[in-house]
Amino acid sequence: MNRRPLRTVAFLLFAGGTLAAQSTPPCAQHARDCPKPPVINAVPLREPVPPPSDAIVLFDGSNLDDWRSGDGSPARWRVKNGYMEVVPGTGTLATARGFGDVQLHVEWASPAPPKGEDQDRGNSGVFLMGRYEVQVLDSYGSLTYPDGQAGALYGQFPPLVNASLPPGVWQTYDIVFHRPRFDQDGKLLAPAVVTVFHNGVLIQDGVVLTGPTAHTTRPPYQAHPDRLPLTLQDHEHPVRYRNIWLRELER
Ligand code: MG
Repeated sequence: MNRRPLRTVAFLLFAGGTLAAQSTPPCAQHARDCPKPPVINAVPLREPVPPPSDAIVLFDGSNLDDWRSGDGSPARWRVKNGYMEVVPGTGTLATARGFGDVQLHVEWASPAPPKGEDQDRGNSGVFLMGRYEVQVLDSYGSLTYPDGQAGALYGQFPPLVNASLPPGVWQTYDIVFHRPRFDQDGKLLAPAVVTVFHNGVLIQDGVVLTGPTAHTTRPPYQAHPDRLPLTLQDHEHPVRYRNIWLRELER
């Protein structure tokens, strides 16, 4: 489905200052009969991809100084050999600082050998502002509902293609995120817009989110601060992350 007309409408409405536009996901939420994104052979990037000079490095492989647990207590994921790994049950990891519009680079790897199937296989997630998830999942030869596979904007938009690499291989997400805008009364002025490259391949092309991420529901936007921590999901699977950096697009 071509979403471009909707984005154009969203832009025009925003430009006119009257926006309440919603994008339209291609399928009912979590529909297993939603068309499967074509599988392509992505090539592993020459990693780790070095941060540019104006990047804020959130994780360079040495420590979790820039991270907290979701409840504000010290971060408890394991740091080893230049990566961090989810310690199941220790909870979400959140950046100490908040961010709004960003260009974000994340490298991640699914557990190898793989374990489980469907959503129970290498599940984690990159949550912009702690609310808007780019799904992390082992989708290499493993099926789930398309709006829940790797690179999906969870529960809303499947990726354009499945560019997944095998378990244990480092993969990259490069994300451009524009936060939603709210007026002083908390009314939505402009929805969040997300672009994602997975292993260098465009998989989300300026997609307009319907609202925050949720399971079995698509809730509407709720006003929130302009800057909020980036979070990584503990879905009880030992997914690894490394080389996380971002560039702030609001200066
Ligand atoms: Mg997830």
